[in-house]
Amino acid sequence: MAATTDIAQRLAEVLAAVGLAAAAAGRAPASVRLVAISKSQPASAIRAAHAAGQRAFGESYPQELEDKARELADLDLEWHFVGRLQANKTRPVAELCHWVHGIDRQRIAERLSAQRPPALPPLQVCLQINAHDETHKGGIAPVAALGLAQAIAALPQLRLRGLMCLPAAARTDRRAPFRALRELAAQLGSAGVALDTLSMGMSDDFGDAISEGATLVRVGTAVFGARR
Ligand SMILES: *Cc1c(COP(=O)(O)O)cnc(C)c1O
Repeated sequence: MAATTDIAQRLAEVLAAVGLAAAAAGRAPASVRLVAISKSQPASAIRAAHAAGQRAFGESYPQELEDKARELADLDLEWHFVGRLQANKTRPVAELCHWVHGIDRQRIAERLSAQRPPALPPLQVCLQINAHDETHKGGIAPVAALGLAQAIAALPQLRLRGLMCLPAAARTDRRAPFRALRELAAQLGSAGVALDTLSMGMSDDFGDAISEGATLVRVGTAVFGARR
């Protein structure tokens, strides 16, 4: 992990780059949110980023999420789950997170809704779309998105916000999955599924993602340094 002052510096650089990419695409800098992906980084790294003004953090493993949420309970954090979710590991995510990116199965969606405490607002979720790439295990085909979106609409404790994707394999057109995600969101909109979030772009490609319409970028290494 990077030292505390480094994290503040890197965070400022990433936010500046996000703002520049948005401006270059003719968009307001505030139209893109940064989620700092803190998986495998110590809680102290999250404290450093929080002290520098960052509030939204993303984790990939339920146990690690639980440990950090406990350790950082004194901070006003917004937790995002960005990992592969197994059906028997949904409870801490339903209880602790504000957002879950990467929903690709109705069974997981149903469990999250059932386990979401009634006193909390609905969990905000994105469907993970896998249009191009067989090397990624997760995600659904674009043709399956409408059906899953409609199933989620019937779940009281989930609120569908948008679509999410992982980067394409290196040899393909880097922007193609981002463009495909934007076009799919527009199609779903025409079919009556209102979405306001495109969760796409990581450390290496958030500029491209913002050019193609990303409203939320998930950036780990560029903020925190290399993972352990
Ligand atoms: C780890 C991870 C990221 C962040 O990746 P970096 O390359 O470190 O920015 C973003 N999204 C998901 C789903 C991840 O698992």
